[in-house]
Amino acid sequence: IRGRDKFLRQYHTYIEQGRIIEDSPNYKGRWHELFGNDNPIYIEIGTGRGQFISQHAVQNPDINYIGIELEYLLLGRVGHKAEMAGAGKNLVVTPADATRLTDIFAPGEVSRIYLNFSDPWPKNRHTPRRLTHEGFLRLYRNVLKPDGAVHFKTDNRPLFEFSLNSFADDDWKLSKITLDLHNSQWAEGNIMTEYEQKFSEQGVPINRLEARPLP
Ligand code: SAM
Repeated sequence: IRGRDKFLRQYHTYIEQGRIIEDSPNYKGRWHELFGNDNPIYIEIGTGRGQFISQHAVQNPDINYIGIELEYLLLGRVGHKAEMAGAGKNLVVTPADATRLTDIFAPGEVSRIYLNFSDPWPKNRHTPRRLTHEGFLRLYRNVLKPDGAVHFKTDNRPLFEFSLNSFADDDWKLSKITLDLHNSQWAEGNIMTEYEQKFSEQGVPINRLEARPLP
């Protein structure tokens, strides 16, 4: 990663400020204590540089946001984005792999999961790494409230098709499906991620769906 030293400095700054939480499993089942309220918890898996979650946190102070990102150095950037956007204490981020989701959250602790432009892992042998693979859907079902939902956006059509099948095969109810989000009825109020901005400038349509676990 370019600018590694700066990111590392930012990373440590935001740990001190409490924006970055390194020991997330310690908060399992008691995230509300950290936030100091019982507001719903929305998480984003793979925050990247954090534009999406920072803007959401600013617009929705009554929702608690937790960003999860594998590449811990990016979290310094996310902390900076969050500060620049004016995000309050309703946003924290944590370095973690989504495979550890059930170590971080108790059953039913999460109200919504955002997956934005997840890595497509196009090779067949890498299918289980896709964040909409049935292995991950099992983790999402565990941590989500019964009326919770996954909101998924991607430029990648094969990943989107794979995901539609994966959710359907695992008994999730799909809704608000579009193959061109920016020209759909759900365009209004859509907050773009860094990848989304890049792809839409290139004229690539954005696929989008919501999925709710059926009992
Ligand atoms: N969501 C951002 C956007 O739309 O601009 C970033 C998209 S980028 C293609 C995917 C991000 O997900 C990367 O930052 C990557 O490190 C992160 N990621 C991939 N697999 C992950 C996993 N298993 N757990 C947590 N983060 C993951």
